[in-house]
Amino acid sequence: MDNGPEMRELEPVSGRPAAPACARLQAVRARMAEAARQAGRDPDSIALLAVGKTFGAAAVRELAACGQRAFGENYVQEAVDKIAALADLPLEWHFIGPVQSNKTRPIAEHFVWVHSLDRAKIAERLSAQRPAHLPPLQVCIEVNVSGETSKSGVAPAGVPALAAQVAGLPGLVLRGLMAIPAPGAGPAAQRAAFGRVRAVFDELVARGHALDTLSMGMSADLEAAILEGATIVRIGTALFGERTGKPHA
Ligand SMILES: *Cc1c(COP(=O)(O)O)cnc(C)c1O
Repeated sequence: MDNGPEMRELEPVSGRPAAPACARLQAVRARMAEAARQAGRDPDSIALLAVGKTFGAAAVRELAACGQRAFGENYVQEAVDKIAALADLPLEWHFIGPVQSNKTRPIAEHFVWVHSLDRAKIAERLSAQRPAHLPPLQVCIEVNVSGETSKSGVAPAGVPALAAQVAGLPGLVLRGLMAIPAPGAGPAAQRAAFGRVRAVFDELVARGHALDTLSMGMSADLEAAILEGATIVRIGTALFGERTGKPHA
């Protein structure tokens, strides 16, 4: 995925402070780079998805002006409005929220990735509704690695069957797995949860799936996720600030 130009010069230029959005982007990139260094991984192997839910098009535009290209959204109507308002920019839109079956069409039409696939019925609808003039939708299966504490995602034992179904659908390309472990745990528990996602990923690869994506890690736990192999981190708060508004549902 294209993350746009790398941020390099963010020091105040001729007395003008860097835009706060650019400073936050630089800080997140620095955290990612440090975690990659600790993990002995190439920082370029980890992509940053900026999660703008509840923030308006202007906030996304500001971050895009700092070089960010990939944006994640959770709510269909809010996202479709934002995508239309920002159609002049070369942005890449990822759907990361729960997918309701009556909302699959706008998702199939407006996004390039879906991270939160957790049912065969949704996969079939997205595949059938993907417009023929667009490349297949890139998808991740969402794994529930925290058991009862998380409502969304497939239990690890159910992932291979769903992966086999998705692999047979012409409108989709299965890229890997996504997970949102229970929040609040310390670094060791975070790493254990991400490690369980990694184990499911390894099992799928052993079964012959050609996968390259582990979408895991948010503002509070991106370091643990990168240490366990994350290739996409999904960051909202650390880039946009605390969410206070309701979604533009
Ligand atoms: C909101 C959200 C994020 C970003 O969370 P932060 O903690 O604000 O970084 C990432 N992934 C998903 C699925 C989300 O809903």
